[in-house]
Amino acid sequence: MTNKDVRVRLAPSPTGEPHIGTAYTALYNYLFAKKMGGELILRIEDTDATRSKPEFEQTVYDSLRWMGLDWSEGPDVGGDYGPYRQSERKHIYGQYVDQLLEAGHAFKCFTTQEELEEMRAFQISQGKTPRYNGAGLRLTPEEIAEREARGEVPVIRMKIPTEGSCKYVDGGYGEVEIPWDAVDMQVIQKSDGMPTYHMANVVDDHLMKITHVARGEEWISSTPKHILLYQYLGWEAPEFTHLPLMRGADKSKLSKRKNPTSMSYYAGLGHLPEALTNFLGLFFIQISEGDELMDLDELVERFDPDKLSKAGAVFDVQKLDWLNARWLREKLTPEEFLARVLEWASENDKLKEGLLLAQTRIQTFSELPDLAGFLLKGDVGVTAESFANIKKNPPEKCLEVIDAVRPALDDMDDWNRESIEETLRVVAEGLETKLGKLTPPLFVAVSGSPRSLPLFDAMVLLGRAMVRQRLKVASDALHASLDTSDQSQDA
Ligand code: GLU
Repeated sequence: MTNKDVRVRLAPSPTGEPHIGTAYTALYNYLFAKKMGGELILRIEDTDATRSKPEFEQTVYDSLRWMGLDWSEGPDVGGDYGPYRQSERKHIYGQYVDQLLEAGHAFKCFTTQEELEEMRAFQISQGKTPRYNGAGLRLTPEEIAEREARGEVPVIRMKIPTEGSCKYVDGGYGEVEIPWDAVDMQVIQKSDGMPTYHMANVVDDHLMKITHVARGEEWISSTPKHILLYQYLGWEAPEFTHLPLMRGADKSKLSKRKNPTSMSYYAGLGHLPEALTNFLGLFFIQISEGDELMDLDELVERFDPDKLSKAGAVFDVQKLDWLNARWLREKLTPEEFLARVLEWASENDKLKEGLLLAQTRIQTFSELPDLAGFLLKGDVGVTAESFANIKKNPPEKCLEVIDAVRPALDDMDDWNRESIEETLRVVAEGLETKLGKLTPPLFVAVSGSPRSLPLFDAMVLLGRAMVRQRLKVASDALHASLDTSDQSQDA
């Protein structure tokens, strides 16, 4: 293979705001493609129709481009191996599932969700790892025909060898061996005829001539299934590299409930994309101290897939901030600095729209920083005391409201004034209260002050990731203070 034939891909599922982990995997693939002189392909994996949203797809493009990445094929740029959105490739997968069925590598399974749950509960009660029990494998052709004639629609599962293990050499982990008895008979086609991730991913990687798959460590346990599917279909498997999971400073898995993880949050705080890219790139490169500052081209130059850093990937926000400060001081000219600040403040039109919202609420311009400054801040300094004087809303009520709103905002499809209002109205109903009672604590949590700009508009301008973080800070502060006051009462 010449380097020119190297084809790598990013395969995000547009089911949420792009995560720091998406950026991390994307950067690795980008550096790999550039270093090898190959191509980077962007494929949108939206087989989960209920969770995939066009809005999130757009944020994938925006966030990756914001980082300075680009790709030579994808839904938005076209290419010879399209369509690049799995929902537009539905007609492609069925023939390969049929091929697997005909060759006896896959089978029909009629086990219902309820039966699966019972199976699971029983196996757990026996101290066993829950897994599918292979019932479909034991059905005779007559039984299958009969059930189908009755209108039962099966899922299709792949067969897994009963003994031995899957061995392969991973670009990140070296020799990997996973016993087949640790691998479940994966569903490859759902009862609605749609392929699962595993099937679509393998078929598309093959048809798109992907030579190297680099993705997060969480997929390593799926790799035996994928390797087996390649074998069953008579295709050459790509090389696999699993990247160490990015962890929080406490070494736990990054989770948006604990810490902000979406790229838009860090963009909103005013991190330069160059600094974020630099920060993530250092996970892949062995460097000596003092040698940290690198732009994308330098990262490409220094990147060597055979010499990946062994340090693991810790999302250390202090280090990111430190790198950002160095970028501001050492890399930007004064003109660039000014331009970048203005660009940041204009993102999402937040400065302009914020000022317009303030127009009818001030007497003089000098009130603007107090009234609208929260739109540009990272932390608005909310403490439990900030909620002390909210009429008819004691702290425990404020906390109840905030904690009810947090998951509801996460579940929203669109982020606009109407959808926010509607969602909050539903939450208010659930709490058997009025929308008007919900807004004061949210006002304080989001803006840090009881006097500020209209709540829903402000939330739109701040963006979901920033609002999520402010509600979390408020909730943590209230929880902590209520626990303390409980203890003091006990004492
Ligand atoms: N759609 C999967 C994801 O969002 C892709 C995993 C892979 O790269 O195979 O992580």
